[in-house]
Amino acid sequence: MRGAAARAYGHFGAGASVRVRDGRIEEIGNLVPLPGEAVVDARGCVLAPGWVNTHHHLFQSLLKGVPGGLSTRLADWLAAVPVRHRRAFDHEAVFRTAVRVGLGELLLSGCTTVADHQYHHYPNMPFDPTAVVFEEAERLGLRMVVCRGLATQVRIIDTAPSPQIAPETLDQFFAGLEHDTQRFHESGPLATRRMVAAPTTPNWSVLPDELREIARFARRLGLGLHSHLSETPDYGAHIRAVHGTTPLAFVEQHEWVGPDVWFAHLVWMEPSEQRLLASTGTGMAHCPQCNARLGSGTAPVVELLELGARVSLGVDGAASNEAADMLSEVHMAYLMHRLKHGPQALDTDTVVHMATSAGAQVLGLHGTGTLAPGQAADMALYRLDSPAASGLHDVGGAPVLCGRALPVQSVWMGGREVVREGAIPGLHWPDLHQQAQAQVARVIERVQA
Ligand SMILES: [Zn+2]
Repeated sequence: MRGAAARAYGHFGAGASVRVRDGRIEEIGNLVPLPGEAVVDARGCVLAPGWVNTHHHLFQSLLKGVPGGLSTRLADWLAAVPVRHRRAFDHEAVFRTAVRVGLGELLLSGCTTVADHQYHHYPNMPFDPTAVVFEEAERLGLRMVVCRGLATQVRIIDTAPSPQIAPETLDQFFAGLEHDTQRFHESGPLATRRMVAAPTTPNWSVLPDELREIARFARRLGLGLHSHLSETPDYGAHIRAVHGTTPLAFVEQHEWVGPDVWFAHLVWMEPSEQRLLASTGTGMAHCPQCNARLGSGTAPVVELLELGARVSLGVDGAASNEAADMLSEVHMAYLMHRLKHGPQALDTDTVVHMATSAGAQVLGLHGTGTLAPGQAADMALYRLDSPAASGLHDVGGAPVLCGRALPVQSVWMGGREVVREGAIPGLHWPDLHQQAQAQVARVIERVQA
């Protein structure tokens, strides 16, 4: 690739070239094409690492703008949107369509790695959700981490309970996780398929002893751990009342801290919890759009970064932000903390770091997330000849400063071109849109029945 303008995301400047071989970046600099090499002309563009989205719920891609959940906080939103609509996800086609829409949206925003918190499991499911997610990720071309969800306890009851919200037993979860691990899990820094153990919440979804058992079981299989924590003040109030401690201290007591653990949200944290997160190397998936949409609060990202904590970025499900779009997510992350702390709170390089290399580290995928020789060729190329980029003095920060308005020209995952001229090869988006709308109509009908 010749002439890509880039800045601190890699280690090279405007006009440099990138050589890719066998799915990895081989060289960066003033390179001359070798005989037989294909050359991509990237002049007038900016190159960045592919985004790493560390928290998502792909099944929610068909639950955007649900009227009953537009003006509610987390607990009521959960009841009105994802819990209420789970009964409609009772066959493979609706789930597969949602997964394809979500992954397609992510890819078209320059995202190459996704961790999906897939908590839509119930006893005797008629389809295989883990296989569906990996099949769709393989087809479209994304590095995929499936965080296999679990609830042995039901906290939020739908007004019309259905089999789709029935809890699993711990043994069912262990059997499913082990089976999925044997079928799909790859170890190593360049894995394209990873499994993770992921109860919905540590405090409401499982019993405390089960939490410890899950941690030990996952670590025996070589898997990471993920869950939601402290999205609202309710988490801290509940854990203090029942267990007499803070949420982070509670999970630490149950072996749920360390470099192989990350939590989504962590909006509400005591200073002692912030220090514990940083000192144990436990990761965070910051989800600013979802936190803003549900009015949950502003996570202490600036404080955590000062402590050296591992802060990554997640889009979260499209039912709580109407998008699966990393460009608008990085833009929101950039703005949100300036609103609270002032214009020096976060710069564009810090946001890019959170959304790329920090995310890759949190997921244990050390071979992606930066533009450097030896790293996977997971890259996004943005066009600068658009209205959004016209007039820019410094193009290096464009993917953060311009947000969604910046056009994505190409995306590569492991050197494979998975977005070409702003489209996904082999995926006809108008057809997918029609399929999605037909499934939405069935979802509405099923929920209202
Ligand atoms: Zn979530």
